[in-house]
Amino acid sequence: EGKIVTIGEILVEIMATTFGDGFLEPQPLIGPFPSGAPAIFIDQVGKLGAAAAIVSAVGDDDFGTLNLERLKRDGVDVSAVEVLPGAATGSAFVRYRADGSRAFVFNMRDSAAGKIAATLAAESVLGGAAHLHVMGSGLPMPAVHGMVSTAIPALKERGGSVSFDPNIRPEMLRDPAGRAALDRVLAATDLFLPSGEELMMFAGASEETAAIAALLQTGVREIVLKRGKAGASHFDRNGRTDMPGFAVEEVDPTGAGDSFGATFLVCRRFGLGIGESLRYANAAGARTVTIKGPMEGTSTFAELDAFIAGATVRSP
Ligand code: ATP
Repeated sequence: EGKIVTIGEILVEIMATTFGDGFLEPQPLIGPFPSGAPAIFIDQVGKLGAAAAIVSAVGDDDFGTLNLERLKRDGVDVSAVEVLPGAATGSAFVRYRADGSRAFVFNMRDSAAGKIAATLAAESVLGGAAHLHVMGSGLPMPAVHGMVSTAIPALKERGGSVSFDPNIRPEMLRDPAGRAALDRVLAATDLFLPSGEELMMFAGASEETAAIAALLQTGVREIVLKRGKAGASHFDRNGRTDMPGFAVEEVDPTGAGDSFGATFLVCRRFGLGIGESLRYANAAGARTVTIKGPMEGTSTFAELDAFIAGATVRSP
């Protein structure tokens, strides 16, 4: 069985335990929690028992070790995570405001995640991949972009597949070079995983049906639109499948999209149908938002089955 591989940042998140507008006074914190969208994604793949690997870099510090140990525990191959002597693993401090929005302080500028490089270990892991999951957030980094650009044609050549979670800031689409990079990945994408507005932004359409039609026209085989608490919709040439979300109390939304995407992908690769895969993916996303810490809510199949057995589906 070939591996599902992703490339991108690993960091820790440290959370304020009280609501408020930021970090302008000393306050109680919890963490560090393992984090980084690609790391959460691949941890979820590993937990579901699929072969998984990540290409990344961490510092030679406790934050790096915390992440490496967690990923290893959950079955992820970390042989292509470079431990950089003298570099620090990045961190993000987050505090929720009462309205659900978040205030961040990032310590990422000179962090190990910005020094991800095309090492021999990375080449070896990418060379053995059966599936590559691309995250738009990493593409502005030249080394990440370079590895993605090289890996995709080789992967396609040997019958592999690509999923793409845009996970981008709108500025990136306005920059012509950024837009071109995203479009090249999109052209090779088998499974596209946008959330909300990203679908419209990418398709350059003002309406969902037109956006879906335009993307399927470009060769994207499957699109799964993430709709937050409303669940998700799947589109392909044969039509559309909607799946309502589960009714849960949201404690921490970070990571929902990544655990959702990983779960949908693994379910499909394990041969489950579209509806069943969407249900498991919704369960993974919903479970993630009920647990504090971005990677703390990733799930095994046993945890998803138990969650589904006890959960209520939101009425559409
Ligand atoms: P993020 O960027 O926060 O990781 P996203 O914007 O990529 O997430 P969302 O649509 O917010 O994606 O969430 C992904 C999936 O997680 C949803 O499709 C849904 O299945 C589940 N989910 C998210 N929020 C909730 C919620 N409040 N209640 C139930 N399910 C949720």
